[in-house]
Formats: sequence, structure tokens, C-alpha cells
Amino acid sequence: MRACTAMSSRNVKGDDMSTSVEVRDRPSTAIGSLRVDGKRLWRSLMELAEIGATAKGGVRRLALTDLDRQGRDRVVGWLRDAGASIEIDGAGNVFAMRAGSNALAPPVLTGSHVDTQPSGGKFDGNYGVLAGLEVLRTLNDAGVVTEHPVAVAIWTNEEGSRFVPVMGGSGAFAGVFPLEHLLKQRDVDGVSFGEALTAIGYAGTVRTGGRELDAYFEAHIEQGPILEREDMVIGVVTGALGQRWYDCIWSGQDAHAGPTPMEARHDALLGAAKMVEAVNGVAHRHAPDGRATVGFMQVKPNSRNVIPGSVTMSIDMRHPDDDHLVTMDREIRAAASAIAVELRLECEVRQVDQFPASRFNLECVDAVRGAAKALAYPYREIVSGAGHDAIYLARVAPAAMIFVPCKDGISHNEIEDARPEHLEAGANVLLHAMLARAGVSRTAR
Ligand SMILES: [Zn+2]
Repeated sequence: MRACTAMSSRNVKGDDMSTSVEVRDRPSTAIGSLRVDGKRLWRSLMELAEIGATAKGGVRRLALTDLDRQGRDRVVGWLRDAGASIEIDGAGNVFAMRAGSNALAPPVLTGSHVDTQPSGGKFDGNYGVLAGLEVLRTLNDAGVVTEHPVAVAIWTNEEGSRFVPVMGGSGAFAGVFPLEHLLKQRDVDGVSFGEALTAIGYAGTVRTGGRELDAYFEAHIEQGPILEREDMVIGVVTGALGQRWYDCIWSGQDAHAGPTPMEARHDALLGAAKMVEAVNGVAHRHAPDGRATVGFMQVKPNSRNVIPGSVTMSIDMRHPDDDHLVTMDREIRAAASAIAVELRLECEVRQVDQFPASRFNLECVDAVRGAAKALAYPYREIVSGAGHDAIYLARVAPAAMIFVPCKDGISHNEIEDARPEHLEAGANVLLHAMLARAGVSRTAR
């Protein structure tokens, strides 16, 4: 039904390329040879990274701070310069729309986020937004008119480090939680999301969500080591790991470290320590796809000469298959019970959040794979281990993601790095995946 002319071969009419012509009747090379300007993309990334730049070469631009405003203003300025019209919704999500020839066709959207972790890098999120900007600039340079509108989104508070929930803007857009829930969340200083949004001038009036989309694509650095290790340039992301988050609470008895014999103790920290090992063991049993992490622990009373009577610890468990997660859930609960009996403790394993494993839309994944193939970039399929705005978008629109390698797989770190040629390749794949969905009506040159 859709005129997917971007990468397909059509019969040749032989029109003069310097005039406005119907690309549908042109050979595939006319659009197929279109490429982004990698140097321009890199320059934009470096210019955006100046805002909130840290001494170690990273970026600290927390959601809805004045630095976030400055970053947004700079990118919105560039999007306006690229001729896009700007809309802002109630969650502060920004949509930059480039009109297509069919005013009734839903847009093909790309995007990501420009907020960062407290000690974040230059590329996480920022790359996806600026790759989208580069797509618009490239279409402008070539005078391409798409059938569907092509649009770029900046999602608010993806990182979730100043405000919970993580992926807040895209979650509200996708109806995962109501906008009101998001707006009333408070940071550690008691400032609400709504107040902070108004303070930086990004409390928009456009309705949050309910927007029909033809497709959503998101380009992102991998944030893991697989592509680099295998010398791949493009990750065709087929879905994301399911996640289960737990609080695990150990209760024993505070007692004096000196007079209390070993056999008389109820040491909650010893239980937690054994549990850390058990959680690791569960993930290893479900290798290579299983992941399990204890990253937070609170020991009470946390005193040198007191046997700890209480420990609260987190467990983060991930797997691409939800059935496996059910098994892993059973295994950590069984381990907790066995440790509790052995050490005469009480243990409560409380699940606090859950993200089902998600599979991206097959047609959109095909569009990404097709573009990588046509552009002759080495690619492999990959599952995202991290959360992304695209995972919420996938609930309301056909969606897929494009990964590019990052140095040593390191992200959420000031030393996060990526190679210009890989970023350029990912943007080229994004361009052609979007064109495959948006269809091309005509080109001026
Ligand atoms: Zn990100």
C-alpha cells in the first residue's frame, strides 16, 4: 500500500535530474545514492556536547535543568533552520515536523533524548536526535519530498536520573502512565517535574500521545561491547530484554560483634552476601542471554562492631524471553529461601517493576536490515540490553532501532566514545530505513 520507492528498483524514464521529477519512475540509484554528511553530524554532536561539558570530556545535562533548556534550544534552533515546524506536548516532548506530499499520511518519526546521566557522555541519546536532524538536512540538500511527513522527536527525561520514571516523556506519550503522574514526580530537592518543565519553558500545549505514527526508528550507540568485538558497524535491533526489578530485604538481629558467638548470630549481611553469589549463579545458568545484577545495598545499622540486623538489596534481572524470566524468578526465590533457612534469617523478595521482553516490528526491522545491506555495512542482529524510548514507542507504533558501536562498550560514563564513521553509517541506515517507510514523491535535484 505504501509507496516504498526509496530502495526499490523502478523502471527508468530518463528525465533530466536537474529538474523536479517523479522519483517513483527513476532508477533506485537516484535515492539509493543519497548519503548524510558525516562531518556535519559530528560537528553538531560536538557543539551540543559543549553545553554541560565536564572536565573529563563528558556531559552533565540533567533533565529539565537550565542546561537541558540550553541543549534543547540549540537543537530546536537547528531543526527550525532545517525548515521543520516545532510542536511541544504536555510532557515537554518536542516534535520537529517536515511536511510530506500527502498531508493525511501519518509521520515517520525518529528521535531520542538530549538529557544525560550526571556523569554522562556525548553520544547517548544525543546521537539519535542529531542523526534525525542530519536526515532532515540531507533531504533538504537533495530537495527530496517524501510522501509521509518525516519528523524528529526529543523525548523528555529518558535517563530517569533526576526524575523517576525513567523514559518519562516517551512513557507518557505511549500511555504507559498518565501525564499527571509524570508531572507530579519530584526530584531530591522537592521540585516537581511540572514545575521544572514550566521553568525551562518547555511545558507545551499539544496533547501528549494519541498521535498516529507510520513508524518510529531510533539510532543509538550500543552501550555494550558486542558490535565492536565482532567488527560490525550496524546492529539491527530486533527487540529488548525483558526486565524484572526487585527489592530483597533480609531481617536478622543486631548484636554485639564481640560477645556474640558465631553459631548464635542472625547476620543479615551474610545472607545478602550469599544472595549476591546466588543471583550471579542464576544469570550464569541462563547464559548467554541471562543477566542479573545486585547494584544497591543498604546495611543496618552499618556500624563496625554490630552484626547487621537488616539489609535491603536490589536485584535487576534480564532476559530476552519472558518464560526464562519466570524460571529465573523462581530460582532466585528458591535461593533466598534456602539461604534464609540456613542462616536463620527472614527474607522477603519483592518485585518492584517489570518490563516485558519486547520484539520490534518485523517490517521496521526489515527496513533497517535492508538499508544496512544496500549500503554494504557489516551488520548483525542484536537485542538491546538497555531501556530506550523506542521500547515504549513500540507499544503504539511499528518501531525498530539501529545500533552503532561505542568504544569498549562503555556508556553512562564521561569517557563514552564513538567513531565518526560509525555514527555516519548509522545515520545513513536511519535515512534509508525512514525513506523506505516514508516513500519519495519527488526530488528537486
Ligand atoms: Zn539513551
